[in-house]
Amino acid sequence: MNPDLPQPIANADSKVYWEGARENRLMIRKCNGCGKTHFLPRYLCPDCWSEDLAWIEACGRGTVHSFTVIRRAPTPAFTGKVPYVVALIDLEEGPRMMANIVDEHALDTRIGDKVEAVFEERQEGAKIVQFIRRA
Ligand SMILES: [Zn+2]
Repeated sequence: MNPDLPQPIANADSKVYWEGARENRLMIRKCNGCGKTHFLPRYLCPDCWSEDLAWIEACGRGTVHSFTVIRRAPTPAFTGKVPYVVALIDLEEGPRMMANIVDEHALDTRIGDKVEAVFEERQEGAKIVQFIRRA
């Protein structure tokens, strides 16, 4: 664990998401008004503006929608990580989220690859949702 990597900062909308990550659970929002799921967590449904939202645990599986390879560290803390993959992941429940692909051969990532969530440890028990490719 690199202590210089940024820590997640929860707000009122994302508190449950970050608490779930600490327990290796990927939490997303589902609207009780229209039934759609979304990510990032929001106070209002981005589809129908309902305030009647629930939290559900996503299965953690998804598909790579797109990706890029980061070759220049955005801050000194990431110097030891480059090159690394940042991908848009379409979760099986519907939402699209951005995360790193972190398996051993992540630089071989291709659009359409099947992935599953893993939880990268940060300081003080915090965890970041990342993905590895499935066979
Ligand atoms: Zn809705």
